[in-house]
Amino acid sequence: MAPATPELPPIDPEEAGLRVTGPADHAAGLTAVRVSMAKALRQMGPVKAARNLLSVNQTDGFDCMSCAWPDPQGHRHTAEFCENGAKAVSWEGVRDTAGPEFFAAHSLSDLAGRTGHWLEKQGRLTHPMVRRAGRDHYEPISWDDAFALIGSHLRGLASPDEAVFYTSGRASNEAAFLYQLLARAYGTNNLPDCSNMCHESTSVGLARTIGVGKGSISLEDLHRADLIVVSGQNPGTNHPRMLTALEIAKRNGARILAINPLPEAGLLRFDNPQKPRGLAGHGTGLADKLLRIRSNGDLALWQAIGQLLLSAGAIDRDFVDTYTIGFEAWSAHLRELDREAVLRATGLPWAEIEEAAAMLASSERIVHCWAMGITQHHNAVATIQEFVNVALLQGMIGKPGAGLCPVRGHSNVQGDRTMGIWEKPPAIFLDRLRDEFGFEPPRRHGHDATDAVRALRDGRASVFVGLGGNFVAAMPDTEVTAAALRGAGLTVQISTKLNRSHVDAGRTALILPTLGRTERDRTGGVEQRITVEDSMSEVHASRGRSAPAGPLLRSEIDIVCGIAAATLGAAFDIPWSAFARDYDLIRERIGRVVPGAAGYAEKIRSRGGFTMPHGPRDSRTFPTPEGKAVFTVSPLEVLTVPPGRLVLQTLRSHDQFNTTIYGLDDRYRGIKSGRRVVFISAEDLAELGFADGDHVDLISEWADGVSRRAERFRLVEYPTPKGCVAAYYPETNPLIPLDSQAAESGTPTSKWVVVRLVRC
Ligand code: SF4
Repeated sequence: MAPATPELPPIDPEEAGLRVTGPADHAAGLTAVRVSMAKALRQMGPVKAARNLLSVNQTDGFDCMSCAWPDPQGHRHTAEFCENGAKAVSWEGVRDTAGPEFFAAHSLSDLAGRTGHWLEKQGRLTHPMVRRAGRDHYEPISWDDAFALIGSHLRGLASPDEAVFYTSGRASNEAAFLYQLLARAYGTNNLPDCSNMCHESTSVGLARTIGVGKGSISLEDLHRADLIVVSGQNPGTNHPRMLTALEIAKRNGARILAINPLPEAGLLRFDNPQKPRGLAGHGTGLADKLLRIRSNGDLALWQAIGQLLLSAGAIDRDFVDTYTIGFEAWSAHLRELDREAVLRATGLPWAEIEEAAAMLASSERIVHCWAMGITQHHNAVATIQEFVNVALLQGMIGKPGAGLCPVRGHSNVQGDRTMGIWEKPPAIFLDRLRDEFGFEPPRRHGHDATDAVRALRDGRASVFVGLGGNFVAAMPDTEVTAAALRGAGLTVQISTKLNRSHVDAGRTALILPTLGRTERDRTGGVEQRITVEDSMSEVHASRGRSAPAGPLLRSEIDIVCGIAAATLGAAFDIPWSAFARDYDLIRERIGRVVPGAAGYAEKIRSRGGFTMPHGPRDSRTFPTPEGKAVFTVSPLEVLTVPPGRLVLQTLRSHDQFNTTIYGLDDRYRGIKSGRRVVFISAEDLAELGFADGDHVDLISEWADGVSRRAERFRLVEYPTPKGCVAAYYPETNPLIPLDSQAAESGTPTSKWVVVRLVRC
C-alpha cells in the first residue's frame, strides 16, 4: 500500500480544513432548524428573515424558488419550508449587492480565477451591466441601451436560428410564455431549457407510453399509497418536504422500497422538526427495504421484478386488457430474461430482488418516484418505460393512491415546458399560437441544450440569451461549453446573482438584474403576481413580499417585453408593453393557447390555484397514437468498464441546489468544509492501491479520445457499491463528454461517467 499523499493545498482556499466524519443515519432534525435560522439571520437579518420565511409556500405568499415539491392543498404549516428552502430564500434575500463598484474592482480575468461559490456570495446584482468587445470589465448600461443592443444583434443575424433562448426552471409561467412567443415570433425554436439536462428522459419515456410527459399523482395519492418506491432519488437533500409526505404515508401504513447505490440519510429516517419526537431525535423510519443497486442496474432490476410479478400472477388483467397494448410481446421478452445478466447489472443477490417483487405483489396502491439517478443514463428512457410496464401490469395508473411520480428538481421546470419552452414543440401548440397571434411560427425543431453548445462551438449560433440559470456550470464538458459561450458575439444573462456564466461570457456581454421570487413586483405600478406549476401539475400564484434588492431591478416579464419590443418593434400584433403592465393579459392568452389551460386567468384566482388536466390520472385516457397505454420491450444491457476503471455518478451536496453552492458542508454524507471529494468503497481503494485520504485527479475516457481531467480530489472511503464512485458537480462536469447522452432524450449521462484515478 503506497503511503498516503501529503495534504495538498486545496484548489479553493475556502476548502482548507476539510473534515470527514462518515454518513448520517437520519435527515432533518434540530440541526436543520439551527442551520436554517443561522443562514436566514446572517444573510437577511431578523425582519426580512421573518417576513420571507413566514411567506414562503403560503397561499398568499411566494413559491419557493428551489425544488418543485408541491404544497399541501389544505392546511399549511406556519413554517411551510425545509432547510434547503430556507437556504434558497436566504441566498436570494441576502443584503449584499454586486453593483457597478464591484465590477469596477473586479475584472473578468480576476473573476475567472474565483470559484462558483465565491461568485454567488458577492450578492445580488443591482444594475444592468455591459462588457463591450475587447474590454476586461463590465460597465453600467441603461435598460433602453441594453435592449437596443440586443435588438440590433438579433436583427443583424443571417438567420434566427443563429440565436439561442435558454430557460432555467426558475422562470415563471408568464415569463416563459412570453419568452417562447418572442423566440417564435423572431423565427426560431431554439428554446433549450434545464429539463434537457434532468427529466427529458422522463418526458420522452412517459409521452411514448401513457401519452403525457408528466407524473400522474397528487400529494394525496402519495399519502394514501401502501407502497412507495423511491428510485435514483435523494429526497432528504433535493426534495426535503417529500419526507413529510413519506412520514404521513408511513403513518397510514405504507411501506417504502428505496433503490439507490448510496445509503442516503433521507431514505433511512426523518426527524421531522415540526414534531417534538422529531426534534428529540426519535423520528420516523423510512425505507423498509433499501436496494443498494449498482449504477445503471435499474433497467435489469425492473425487468426481473416484472418477470417475478408475471410468474406470481400479480396482474390487473382487466386494466391490461382494457387500457393497454403490447402486453404479449413484453411478457414474452421477460420469459427469456437472463438472470445472470440481471445479477451482473444490478450487483444485487436474487433473494433481494425477490423480496422487492413480493412487496409489489402484495400491494394495492403503488406510487413510483424517481429523479436524476434514473434519468441521466444513456438507457434512461428504457428504464423509465420499464417502470411504466410494471405499473401497467398492476393497473397502478389512474386510481387513488397509485401512479408515477417523477420528482422535478427546479421549482417551475414543469411549468416552463407546459408554457411552450421546448425545442420540439407539438404542432397543436404552434397552431394555437398562430391562431392567437396571427403569425406562422417556425416548425423546424430547434436546439436542445447540448445542440446549442455545438451550434455556438461550431459558429452556427452567435447570440445566447439566458433566462435565469447558470448554463456554463450546469452543462457537461465544462471547458467546451465555456469556450462556446466565450466565442459568441453576444451573451445576455437575466440573473439575480453573479455566476460562472457571467465570467465565461460572449465577446459582448450583458447582465440584466431581475427581481427574485421573494420580492414585490410592482411592474406597471400595480402589485403583480406570477404563476408556477409543480411536479404534480398543481398551478398556483406566487407574490413576493420583500423590497427589491435595488431600484433598477426589473421583473423577468418586463425584461422579456423590453427585448421583444427592441427586436421585433411593431412587426407583430403582440402588445408587449400592455403585457408588461398587466400580467392578467398574459394569462388570458395562456388560457387560449396552452392545451389544458382554458380559463387560466380566472382559475389562478382561486385559493391554492388549480390542477392541470392529465388524462391517464383523471380518467385512464391515454393520448398516445394508439389511444392506449403502451407496453415497451427494451433489450437488457449490462454495462461494464475496463479493468482499473470506475463508474462515476455526479451529485449534489446537502449545501447545494443545482449549481448554486450555499456552503461547503454535506452534513448527511459527513463532509465538512470541502467539495473536492470522491466517495469510493473500501474494496476499490484496496484493489486500486489507494487509501482513504489520498489525493487523486479524475480522468474520464470517451470515444473521442479526449482525456478530460478534474484535479485534486480527496478519496473518502464510503458505503458505495464496488466499481461505483460519486463526486459533486459542477466540479466534475468537466469529465462528462458533451456527446455522452441518453438515447432518444439527449439527457447528459451524468450518472455514468467512466473514470480512472491518478495519484496527485
Ligand atoms: S421541499 Fe423544495 S420547494 Fe419545498 S421548501 Fe424545500 S426546497 Fe423549497
